[in-house]
Formats: sequence, C-alpha cells, structure tokens
Amino acid sequence: MDQKYLPYSKYLKDKYGEKVYKIPVNIPVSCPNRDGNCGTGGCIFCGEVGAGFEALPNDMTVANQLRENIKKIAPKYKAKKFIAYFQNFTNTYMPIDFFEKYMREACIEDIVEICISSRPDCINDDYLDILKKIEEEKGVNITIELGLQTVNYHTLKKINRGHGLAEYIDAVLRIKKYGFAMCTHFIANLPWDNDEDLIEAAKIVSILGMDQVKLHSLFILRDTVMGDMYENNEFEICSLEEYVNRVVMFIRHTKEDIAFQRFVGRAPADRTLFCNWSTSWWKIKDMVDELMEQGGYKQGDLYNYVNGPALKKL
Ligand code: SF4
Repeated sequence: MDQKYLPYSKYLKDKYGEKVYKIPVNIPVSCPNRDGNCGTGGCIFCGEVGAGFEALPNDMTVANQLRENIKKIAPKYKAKKFIAYFQNFTNTYMPIDFFEKYMREACIEDIVEICISSRPDCINDDYLDILKKIEEEKGVNITIELGLQTVNYHTLKKINRGHGLAEYIDAVLRIKKYGFAMCTHFIANLPWDNDEDLIEAAKIVSILGMDQVKLHSLFILRDTVMGDMYENNEFEICSLEEYVNRVVMFIRHTKEDIAFQRFVGRAPADRTLFCNWSTSWWKIKDMVDELMEQGGYKQGDLYNYVNGPALKKL
C-alpha cells in the first residue's frame, strides 16, 4: 500500500473500476431507541432529525430522491455510478414488506450498490434474506453500516445506546454469512472513553473482518441530553491534538484492507454547541495525514495482535 491508509474513494475505485458517489435517501423511519421499543429519548447525542442532514424530504419516492440528487451530483463529481444510501435513523426498523418495497425502489439505473444504515439490534435473518434476494435479482451490491460508537459497554450504557457490544458482534457475524460488505461507525472521542477503548475498537473491527470504518468526532447538538450536560460542564471534550493522536492510533491498529470513510463528523453549525474545534474537516484530515507522515506510520503497522501473539515471543 503506497498510501498511509486506505481511503474509501480508493476502495470504491478498486471495487467498481470507476468513480462511484453515495446519494443519501431519506425514508420515514424512526428508531427503536426513540419510540419506546428498546428505549426512549434516543442516544444522548442524537438530534431529532436522525444522523443525516443532507437528504431530500421523505415524502418523495426513493427513486425520485435518487434521480433528483443524481441530476445535481453527477456533473459536479463526474460520477456515472451511484450508491443509494439509506442514512437517517434506523433503516431496517420497519415492517418487512415496507423494507422490501423501499429497497426495491432504490434499484434504478446507475445504482450499483444499496447501503443501509442501521443499529446492531435491528438486523435479523429475515431482513438479510430479502437483501440477498434483491442482490441476486437486481445485481446490486449490498453494504450494511452499523452504528456502534464505542466498544466500551459501560459507555454504551452511559450514552443510552440501548444495546451492548454482544448485539453488535451477533449482527456482524450474521451479516458476514450473507457476504454483504459492512461498515462500523465510531465516535472516536466520547468523553467516557480513553485511547485504549479506541485501540480495542480498531482490534475488534479488524478481527471481525469489517470492510469499512467511519470515525466521527463528537459534535454536541442543541436540545439534546448531551447538549444539556455540555452546558452544565458535566464532561470535557478532548483537545484537537488528542483527537488526531487517537485517530492515528486507530489507523495503526486497523488491518490494512479496511477502508476509512472519514475521520471526522460534520454537522450544521447553527444546530451545534460544539463541532470539530471550529476547524474544518479537511484541516483535521490534513493533521491526521501529517502525523502519519511524520511518524512514518502506516495503517496496520500495529496489527500484531492476532493468531496467538504470545506464541511469537517463545
Ligand atoms: S440509534 Fe441512531 S437514530 Fe437512534 S437514537 Fe441513536 S443516534 Fe439516534
């Protein structure tokens, strides 16, 4: 690998042989952690619009959302193939016939992949069977993105996630059996986690054979539980330098064939109390690149913890 790490753009180019662009799709779904099924109020950092900010209104059909966005995006990014990205809330949390309908609606011309964002406790074999059927019939690839945020199950409780680490492992092993690609999302600087939690996260996704990872920096939205805690000084956010160090540690412990979708989150400034140390995401990415370069580090140079590491010391 010439690069210091595997970026998602290269991963997609290798997979499809050309530039492929992700198009957000917005459908009327909720989340079991908000509607009382497994919790109320949601994760303490979650705003009411779910995790995505760029999608079109959900009263438009899936196909129309895709066509409209493709019309805008195709000339700008010079892409001819696209991924339908079901991004907001929990996109497998609905009756199974609705789920099948939405997934089929996404199979329009030039869509080569459907990417579905969900929670570990909203994955089961029936829904995966549907996706397999669509993959085979329509010739589209399937990727499932799982929000985990942290592997520290004490922190999962603290952020009111409504599931633990075990549910994540169950979902991953289940999805693996179907051969779908997978991505896991982490917030790299939750205030109750330290460097070791992040290193453990890199190890777990590497061992489970994840395909992609998305690292988010913690942004604090107004009118959320975490927003109130932040305003009451109930926790501190690490410095930008500490964040960059943590991301670099994560990259170094991650197996070299796992692609990084991003290293920082993005949020609209008018809704946040804190976001990315008031620094643009590309500057933070540059800082990560610089530290990797200066240290002579590479993705996976600390991937030395598999296959009986103690035996290597005999
Ligand atoms: S799982 Fe996602 S949509 Fe549900 S409460 Fe948490 S962040 Fe919000």
